[in-house]
Amino acid sequence: QSKPQARVDGSTGVTFNDVAGIEEAVEELQELVRYLKNPELFDKMGIKPPHGVLLEGPPGCGKTLVAKAIAGEAGVPFYQMAGSEFVEVLVGVGSARIRDLFKRAKVNKPSVIFIDEIDALGTRRQGIFNESTEHTYNAATQEKETTLNQLLIELDGFDTGKGVIFLGATNRRDLLDPALLRPGRFDRKIRIRPPNAKGRLEILKVHGRKVKLSDSVDLSTYAQNLPGWSGAKLAQLLQEAALVAIRNGHNSILSSDMDDAVDRLTIGPKRSVLEIS
Ligand code: ATP
Repeated sequence: QSKPQARVDGSTGVTFNDVAGIEEAVEELQELVRYLKNPELFDKMGIKPPHGVLLEGPPGCGKTLVAKAIAGEAGVPFYQMAGSEFVEVLVGVGSARIRDLFKRAKVNKPSVIFIDEIDALGTRRQGIFNESTEHTYNAATQEKETTLNQLLIELDGFDTGKGVIFLGATNRRDLLDPALLRPGRFDRKIRIRPPNAKGRLEILKVHGRKVKLSDSVDLSTYAQNLPGWSGAKLAQLLQEAALVAIRNGHNSILSSDMDDAVDRLTIGPKRSVLEIS
C-alpha cells in the first residue's frame, strides 16, 4: 500500500455556519450537498451529477473550510490530500496514490475527495531546464504527467463513482494544465474571494463565538480597519487577542487586547516582550 494515504474524517463536523463572507460561493455549493444527500434522486430525475469542482482564490480565504463544510453538511466522509503528496520521483507512486484515493472514496460513497494545492500536481510543463538537470527534470516531469493522467482518467470515468464529488483547490489557476480545465473535468469553477468589510465582520463574528469577547469590543471597527486580511488571519487575530487577554490577566478580551493583537500580527511582538522571552 502506498503512503501517505488520504486523511479521512468520517464527519468533518464543519458546517456552512462556520463559513462567512463568501455567501455566493456557499449558495452555489449547496447543490453539491443536496446531491450528496440523495444521489439517486438526481439520477431518477435525469439530472447530470456534479462532476469536479475547482475552488480558486487566495490563501486563507476558506477553500479548505468550505470543502469540509460540504462533507459536514451532507454527513459524508471527506478524503483530503495535498497536490504535493502525489509528487514523487519514484515511478508510479503518484498515480497509485490517485487510484487508491478514488477507490477508497468510491467504496465509501457518497463521499467527498478534496485535493488542496492541485496546481502542484497539475502544473503545465514549463520547459525550462539545462543539461545538468535534464535527467532529473525529465524523470520528475514524466512522473508528474503520469500522475496527472491518472487523475484525468479517474475524473473521466467518474460516472461509475456516482455519489463521489471531487473538489480541487488552487491559488494559481494560471499554472494549471489546460487538460485539467477542459470541460467535463471540472464542470464548475468557483471563485472564493477575499472578504470585503462586511465579510470580514461576519468572519470575526463566527470566530468571536469561540472566544470570550467583552461587550465593549466593537468588531465592526476591526472589520473596517483591516482591509486585505484573510479569513485565516482574522481567525488568528481572535486567537491572539485571547492569548493577550490571558497574559494581561483579563477574564475576557478587551478592546486594548484586540489592538495589541492587531499590532502583534502586523508588526510582530513588542520589543519588551521579545526581551523577556
Ligand atoms: P490555502 O490556500 O492556504 O490552503 P484556504 O483558502 O484553503 O487556504 P482555509 O484553510 O479554508 O483557507 O482557511 C484557514 C482557516 O481560516 C479556516 O480553518 C478558518 O478558521 C479561517 N477562515 C478562512 N476563511 C474563512 C471564512 N470565509 N469564514 C470563516 N473562517 C474562515
